[in-house]
Amino acid sequence: MPSGSRVPVLFIGHGSPMNAIETNDYTMAISAFARERLPRPRAILCVSAHWLTEGTWVTHMENPRTIHDFHGFPQELFGVRYPAPGDPRLAEEIHRRIRRPRIVLDDEMWGLDHGAWSVLRHMYPAADVPVLQMSVSITQPPSYHFEAGRALRELRDEGVLILASGNIVHNLRRLSWESAAAPFDWALEFDLWVKERLEARDFRALVEDATISEAGRLSIPTPDHWLPALYAMGAAAEGEPVEFIFEGVQNASISMRSFAFGADRFGRA
Ligand code: ZN
Repeated sequence: MPSGSRVPVLFIGHGSPMNAIETNDYTMAISAFARERLPRPRAILCVSAHWLTEGTWVTHMENPRTIHDFHGFPQELFGVRYPAPGDPRLAEEIHRRIRRPRIVLDDEMWGLDHGAWSVLRHMYPAADVPVLQMSVSITQPPSYHFEAGRALRELRDEGVLILASGNIVHNLRRLSWESAAAPFDWALEFDLWVKERLEARDFRALVEDATISEAGRLSIPTPDHWLPALYAMGAAAEGEPVEFIFEGVQNASISMRSFAFGADRFGRA
């Protein structure tokens, strides 16, 4: 990676944990994007929809454990390990430097949940880049998360890849167990709305208006999988165009839309 260059920031839709062990058009797309278009970062800071807390926490361990935070899936999935090291020094630096939000260091609560590892094992399969996780302070309003992303932006200039992991449309009550099931109209409608707002860099609408429409309320019945996207938008620098890594809906009600800002300077854009 050229010194002084800014590392891209990503939002990756992760969907079903089964994507961790399957090969499909989505896993091939994120894997190819990482291989062809991303630098090898100094570290990865993953904001995961599956670590919901009061306050904003960052993992502070030498060797974060692989957490299997789901049930009812095949045994093979419980055997997956993602043995990437942590980077306690970087966590301390983030804790010291970022004043808003206040960052709490986590020595034992968490590790790497499937929001992180189901994606990372496709993008960085060697697990040799240090990974930190950041939690989602779930009682905070959308603006808090967008601003938190903004505070993370400077880390991009120091070789840190910010990877937010959630889903733009995520309604488990309407879920079909068939991965290729036809998407609901409201899922397609909201996914397209988000795409257009991202292309227009209308982050204000994305932060404030996402659940104004019926389609938005059906797509975001709970905020956990939506909020990580706001970190990626907050960390986008002035004038960086959005690039879509993957678009598509799995299980009728989960948008796998994944996007990057700032990837145009790397690889074959
Ligand atoms: Zn999830």
